[in-house]
Amino acid sequence: MNNLLNMTREELEDYFLKIGEKKYKALQVYEWLYQKREFNIANFSNIKKEIRDKLEQDFTTDFITIEKKESEDLTKKYLFKLTDNNYIEAVLMHHDYGNSICVSSEVGCNMACKFCESGRQKKVRNLEAYEIVEQILMVEKDLNIRISSVVIMGIGEPLDNYDNIIKFIKIINDAKGIAIGARHITLSTCGLVPKIYELANLPIQINLAISLHAPNDKLRNELMPVNKVYNIEQIMAALDHYLQLTSRRVTIEYVMLNNVNDSKSCALELAKLIKGKNMYVNLIPYNETNHLEFKRSTKIKAFYDTLKKEGINCTIRREFGQNIKAACGQLRGTVNEK
Ligand code: SAH
Repeated sequence: MNNLLNMTREELEDYFLKIGEKKYKALQVYEWLYQKREFNIANFSNIKKEIRDKLEQDFTTDFITIEKKESEDLTKKYLFKLTDNNYIEAVLMHHDYGNSICVSSEVGCNMACKFCESGRQKKVRNLEAYEIVEQILMVEKDLNIRISSVVIMGIGEPLDNYDNIIKFIKIINDAKGIAIGARHITLSTCGLVPKIYELANLPIQINLAISLHAPNDKLRNELMPVNKVYNIEQIMAALDHYLQLTSRRVTIEYVMLNNVNDSKSCALELAKLIKGKNMYVNLIPYNETNHLEFKRSTKIKAFYDTLKKEGINCTIRREFGQNIKAACGQLRGTVNEK
């Protein structure tokens, strides 16, 4: 049975029309779910009983549950149990400007980036849109807060679960839903090129971040197996197309690995690659994991300075939640192993 929180408002309107009802009922359902946060269909009191019964026959409102929560200062990490007993994680960060959440998009991940902890568990399955929506709803409820921005940077490769991710974005962006503005939604991908072309046509203009991490194919092939399928040239061509259609500045993520990709020549090569394009570089201090061969670069500032000197817009990512293994690339979605 489908979950009611899996439905975009448009899909719900179609549903109501199909059962011979007015489509504004979809709006009422959205108000119950996302404004009043009422998930028991029986309590949708402005919708008449026979329609509620019909809704209950056709939809569940099952929820993911919080299995474990860890906090450190401004960061909270949640381990969620899905209804089929799989696990995923999400991380909440409190900023001056509001609360942001990093959500998972898949159970496990098939991309197998050499330095990333999340890739240790092979992909088990896609997350359904409602399972991503519920990461937001559960954290908001648990902390009694509102979340103002969403990054799709947790476990999984979002563009490898494209349809559900787009559905998720439509649901949370809906003005009558959670109403998170497109500019407050960021999707991070390792570069699944055909899907970047598709994303360029999405009417909701979210922020796109590309996990590049190396300025040439030789090095990127070593770090990210996906590069053997879609290389840097293909990614750059897709991004040019994306920029042409959206005019939205693209973020290039670059994780700083000691003596791997942090040399001055790497910085110069990277600068050359993106010079003159509407892109900026976000340098990510590497968070150490069980991939013990990788260490955090000690040359981040020098790398940054070289990029700046080359006229590249560049920032160093602020750090959150290292001690609770809630930082980038540290999420695993497994229950405590000792
Ligand atoms: N699959 C998507 C999103 C998940 S990873 C992607 O590849 O973009 C989110 C970001 O964290 C990616 O840029 C990823 O390369 C980076 N990352 C992975 N492991 C990391 C680590 N140990 N320290 C810092 N960043 C890491």
